[in-house]
Amino acid sequence: MWNLRRIVTKLLPSGERLGTGFVTTTTSPKILIVEDEADLVRTLEYNFRQAGFEVYTATLGREGLRIAAAKTPDLVLLDLMLPDLQGVEVCRLLKADPKTRATPVIILTARGEEVDRVVGFEIGADDYVTKPFSVRELVLRVRAVLRRGETSGRPAEVVKLGQLTIDSEAHRVHVEGREISLTALEFRLLRTLVQRRDRVQTRETLLNDVWGLNLNVETRTIDTHIKRLREKLGKAGSLIETVRGVGYRFGAAEETV
Ligand code: CA
Repeated sequence: MWNLRRIVTKLLPSGERLGTGFVTTTTSPKILIVEDEADLVRTLEYNFRQAGFEVYTATLGREGLRIAAAKTPDLVLLDLMLPDLQGVEVCRLLKADPKTRATPVIILTARGEEVDRVVGFEIGADDYVTKPFSVRELVLRVRAVLRRGETSGRPAEVVKLGQLTIDSEAHRVHVEGREISLTALEFRLLRTLVQRRDRVQTRETLLNDVWGLNLNVETRTIDTHIKRLREKLGKAGSLIETVRGVGYRFGAAEETV
């Protein structure tokens, strides 16, 4: 993914561009930081610019939503405690808007906000970082989440299983022709189960492959997501089978490609 253009962009001094032609074609990942602590925003902005990102910042939730809709960032860093809207609400609205639904969201949370961890995943956040955090580690985490998103486009194919249609590239799921609105995390969970259909996936495997290794997510969080996913899938929800004491399996449905 480190193509020449991005390397060129990265090598340029912070903020400088090669010219208008490059501004429009640059592949620098765009990141939106929604955080009300000015010092933290400055630190993050500086470090992500240095790391080759195009950075947008907002100190209010509503401002963040407006920028997200206008600039369609590749990823959003979202503080939970904002002066106007709660981060949880901002995340929910991002995931409700088709334009930003598939945009990964990393929640910035104060130490020990365990409740918020769970709530964050239930509203579709992709990862967490607990304050205070190492900025270097955060940059690595952001890259990991972006890489996860890139591989999600492959294979660029449409899988049809009975009444269920999954378009990996367009990030769209249909059941009996009706589009189902899934969060980025639900989509990844479904895609993982479908790619490995007929094979049992343990909760640990799903935690590693869907949520990412370095998270303190409880296994019951997976159960919550599976339950929500089944509900959203309606008739096709029964294809996700519970294997007691082990995990989950996407059942053998007739392929109708
Ligand atoms: Ca805050």
